[in-house]
Amino acid sequence: MTESGWINSPLGLTAEMKGGKMSAAGDVLISMTGIERVFYTDEVETHALSGIDLEIRPGEYVSIEGPSGSGKSTLLSIIGLLDSPTQGQYLLKRKTVENLDLSQRAMVRNREIGFIFQSFNLIGDLTVYENVELPLTYRAMSGPESKRRVRQALERVGMSHRIGHYPSQLSGGQQQRVAVARALAGSPSILLADEPTGNLDSQNANAVMELLRELHEEGATICMVTHDPRFARHAERGIHLLDGRVVNEQEATRSSAD
Ligand code: ADP
Ligand code: MG
Repeated sequence: MTESGWINSPLGLTAEMKGGKMSAAGDVLISMTGIERVFYTDEVETHALSGIDLEIRPGEYVSIEGPSGSGKSTLLSIIGLLDSPTQGQYLLKRKTVENLDLSQRAMVRNREIGFIFQSFNLIGDLTVYENVELPLTYRAMSGPESKRRVRQALERVGMSHRIGHYPSQLSGGQQQRVAVARALAGSPSILLADEPTGNLDSQNANAVMELLRELHEEGATICMVTHDPRFARHAERGIHLLDGRVVNEQEATRSSAD
């Protein structure tokens, strides 16, 4: 067993979770205190995040909303270990991440985080299968196990019939479903989605959001950036950013009137 303790069983989408068992009550997956992110460019200082406090518990579906430039992507990048705060404390599974070196960060990211981007970010000269398999190749995982996970993830998103296709041969909606499969295959603790429907027509957008909603019902923890209020309503909790600050955190209404 590794000393770091990072190689725990993941909290999302495991067989246990699908069976409805949650981890111990009171568990916190993501904990941020006083997070600041300042970008320095030429003579300009941009305060992208100014004092964010945030907790996300296993099994939650949280949406991050706010106007363009309010810090949504910056916050998601920090949660996903793609970026680091200028100040503040970030605990992932109660462990501090600030002292990890680059390769440790990459390893934690690979195991704990499933990222879904607006622009899909599939690799054009890899097939659907290879795209989903790619993150698993950085792990010490047996061939059969990897194959099982890739097939299961593609089946879950309804893309098994396009396993040998290249991204350019797929519609945007299909590409995003493959990207969701890639994020799922590693059984991450949390799925992070940054405007996942931003490049999709409304029919495909609905399908992708429905898929995320189902995954949440199956136990996945999701944090999604969106500026479409229809989709924000899928989440249980909305965090509203303005100029890098949380202005209003509200329980989503999940109104049956919609
Ligand atoms: P959002 O996703 O809500 O549109 P972002 O998190 O992308 O907002 O950006 C927040 C602010 O930080 C913006 O003012 C943006 O211009 C700035 N910013 C983001 N990334 C960088 C960067 N790499 N360098 C300089 N400024 C940045
Ligand atoms: Mg953004």
